[in-house]
Amino acid sequence: MGTRPCHNRLLLTRALIFCAGVLAFALPGVPAFAGSLAPDVVPRAAWAAKPPNFALMSAQKPAEIIIHHTAHRVQPRVSLEAKMRGLQEFAFKPGRVGLLPKPAWGDVPYHYYIDVSGRIGEGRDLSFAGNSVTAFDNEDRIQIAVEGHFEREQPSQAEVESLTRLVTWLAASYGIPASAISGHGDFDQTTCPGKNLRPILEEIREAVRAVQAR
Ligand SMILES: [Zn+2]
Repeated sequence: MGTRPCHNRLLLTRALIFCAGVLAFALPGVPAFAGSLAPDVVPRAAWAAKPPNFALMSAQKPAEIIIHHTAHRVQPRVSLEAKMRGLQEFAFKPGRVGLLPKPAWGDVPYHYYIDVSGRIGEGRDLSFAGNSVTAFDNEDRIQIAVEGHFEREQPSQAEVESLTRLVTWLAASYGIPASAISGHGDFDQTTCPGKNLRPILEEIREAVRAVQAR
């Protein structure tokens, strides 16, 4: 199942370096060139997000980036917009995830969600920490979920490209070093984000280092 792994990560890295180089010349300073790396993101209004419940969320300052998989098989026929609405409905309702109780959350638990086609959905406001049913520490972390079960499936090329672009842009925007980009399983007893995505994280760190070295 799943689609072919990415074959042109190197090209993407080169494109990002080139892009950053051009913009750094035109607009000196990290925040200025960070803007040029910005990927297309489907904003909350476009997927008809409901207002968050701020009382159930805690403020944060993004200092790290954590990558997850959804741990469910991809659903290419369901739109990103519908997935985002479903994720928000799930977040608002108390219930269970497996054996673990899940309280009501204030909003989508992730800050960004990347679907199998590589579209990126805007989730929770970055100035609020995400949520997890485990003891995982969410504070000061940007949470990104990638659609798929990457213990069984391969991430699509579009997912890898969007994830690389998103992480590189966020790292440049918030001054996050490559060493602060991790998979969920680096901190918690979980296989998340899956054995087929985990090796790609080092390639993403390399892309971040390359851009930040300019
Ligand atoms: Zn996870």
